[in-house]
Amino acid sequence: MSGARVFHENIRDIYNRPGEMRERTRTVAAPERLGEGLAWVAEGENLDLDLRLESVHEGILATVEVNTTVHAECGRCLKEFATPFQVEFQELFAYTPTEADEYGVHGDHVDLEPPLRDAVVLALPFQPVCRPDCPGLDPESGELREAEAAAESGAVDPRWAALAGYLAEEKDVDRSADPEGN
Ligand SMILES: [Zn+2]
Repeated sequence: MSGARVFHENIRDIYNRPGEMRERTRTVAAPERLGEGLAWVAEGENLDLDLRLESVHEGILATVEVNTTVHAECGRCLKEFATPFQVEFQELFAYTPTEADEYGVHGDHVDLEPPLRDAVVLALPFQPVCRPDCPGLDPESGELREAEAAAESGAVDPRWAALAGYLAEEKDVDRSADPEGN
């Protein structure tokens, strides 16, 4: 993804104008997968960026909030799931970078990609779980420990998990109200 122009942010109108500030929002499609582990941002996934670009004496100070969706494989039950994900970072792009790891202003733009990639990848869960109380797999059978509950809820998007839990409770109420136990 190195050099992906979608991450170039034009700063011409605040270049060398300390005190000037711009706020922008835009959406960028991830040019490739971000994250090599059990959690990742898929290629083509929308990255919603809230940008604040401030012109300071040394360069351009960028404050970026990223909202996207992370796909992950549950470390306990191995099921793949998706979940909303937010990360924020701040980076100074210097007019005259003094160290190798300092980012610079390139002509009329800054390249948000390297710090954005670092911020996202570092914030990805290292050992994701589909839900906090995921029971995991039975070490003997390899089946989900709560086979019944899992079959009932199916492959529920975690964003709807709360609703699914609510529905399950409703079913339980119905069952207990039925003296025949059907
Ligand atoms: Zn799980």
